[in-house]
Formats: sequence, C-alpha cells, structure tokens
Amino acid sequence: MLAKNLKVIRKEIAAALDRAGRTGEKVRLVAVTKTVGSDQVREAVALGLRDFGENRLQEARPKLQLFPNLRWHFIGHLQTNKAKDVLASFDLIHSLDRYSLARTLQRRAERLDTEARCLLQLNISGEKSKSGLAADELPDFLDALRDFNRIKVEGLMTMAPWSVDPEEARPVFRRLRELQQAHARPGMELKELSMGMTNDYTVAVEEGATMVRLGTALFGARPEQ
Ligand SMILES: *Cc1c(COP(=O)(O)O)cnc(C)c1O
Repeated sequence: MLAKNLKVIRKEIAAALDRAGRTGEKVRLVAVTKTVGSDQVREAVALGLRDFGENRLQEARPKLQLFPNLRWHFIGHLQTNKAKDVLASFDLIHSLDRYSLARTLQRRAERLDTEARCLLQLNISGEKSKSGLAADELPDFLDALRDFNRIKVEGLMTMAPWSVDPEEARPVFRRLRELQQAHARPGMELKELSMGMTNDYTVAVEEGATMVRLGTALFGARPEQ
C-alpha cells in the first residue's frame, strides 16, 4: 500500500513540477507520521524516505528513539517549554511564529552549542484556528531575528484552509511565494517553502513548494477510533 502510494505521489509531484516549468527542481517529501507507529516508519525508510514530520513531541518520542538518524521535522505548534527537547531531537522546526519562542530557541541553542534551523510559519488565510504570523508582521519579525545568531531561518511554511476544491488553496500558496520574494535578504534567503498537504500538494508544487508534508496520501486515512 505504502509503496503504491509513494509511487503515485512521486508521479504527481513530477507532473506538477513539469506543469509549472520547474525543470530539474526537486521537492522534498516529508512523511508525516503523527497517525502511524514505528512499523510504518520502518516501512517508509525501507522505501527510501528520510524526512519525517511529527506535530507533537510526546507522540514522536518513541519514533525518534528508534530512528534517531532520520531527518525529523517538527511541524506542529511549538510550546516554549518544549523548545529545548524539540531542538535536541529535530532537524528543522517548521513553526517558528513568535518572538518569545525565538528568544527561547536562541537561548537553548546557545546552551546546546547548536543552531536552530527554522521556517517561519505564516497564517495567510487568517483562520483563527491556525497559528502563524500574519503576513504584515513578517518584515518586523525578520528584523528582530537578526539579534538571534543561533537561529537559521531557512524559509517559510503555511497551511491552507481545508477545502473540497484544492484550487482554493492556490492564492494562499502564491502569497507565501510572494512573501518569500519580497523579503528574502542576504543571510536570510528564505529558500524553502514548506506548503502542501494531502489535499492540496499538487497545487502547492505548482506554486513553488520545495517541501510538501504528506500523511494521509502516504499512509492512508487515520483508522476510525
Ligand atoms: C497532519 C499534518 C500534515 C499532513 O496532513 P495530511 O493531510 O494527512 O497529508 C501536514 N502538515 C501539518 C502541519 C500537519 O499537522
């Protein structure tokens, strides 16, 4: 099942890159394992996947312990009191969205003598249920981050509102790309665009995604509780 899903996804990504004229470009596939266990992580590793995403530290822990050498992406809302552990176990945090978290990550990174690789999460649709910076907060936030030498801002991340019609996500993804182009600066090129989930990843790739975060498309729907 997983092998077949992966094949379809790779084909879809290639077709979307093609449609967008993104010749020779690659999209990193982040396998979101929040609804599955270690067995499925193992299966995905056997198929060649190396990037994995989790949105809660607690549920990620057993998988992090079993597979410490994968590239782990923290994709959920990050509470300040979890910053230290997340920093120690994850390669990339997709959800830096406020000053207090940046300050904590800087301090923790100093103490661990490491750097905090981050994407800035934007809430473009303005949905109340979603976290993230508003688009107009981005310039000031980027300025403020200059004081934090341990934080490496590698790009931007967003989630589009769910809709039956993935086309409705397109303006959200396009806006993230525009923000990237408007605000990239020396030392902060904002190269990565983490956007696109099961429902809308082909649209995201057409709009410039460099990473898509896929759970259901890979592992199937979460079993009924
Ligand atoms: C769960 C989750 C995903 C994956 O969602 P699917 O629709 O199952 O592909 C991607 N990004 C974030 C932030 C998530 O929480």
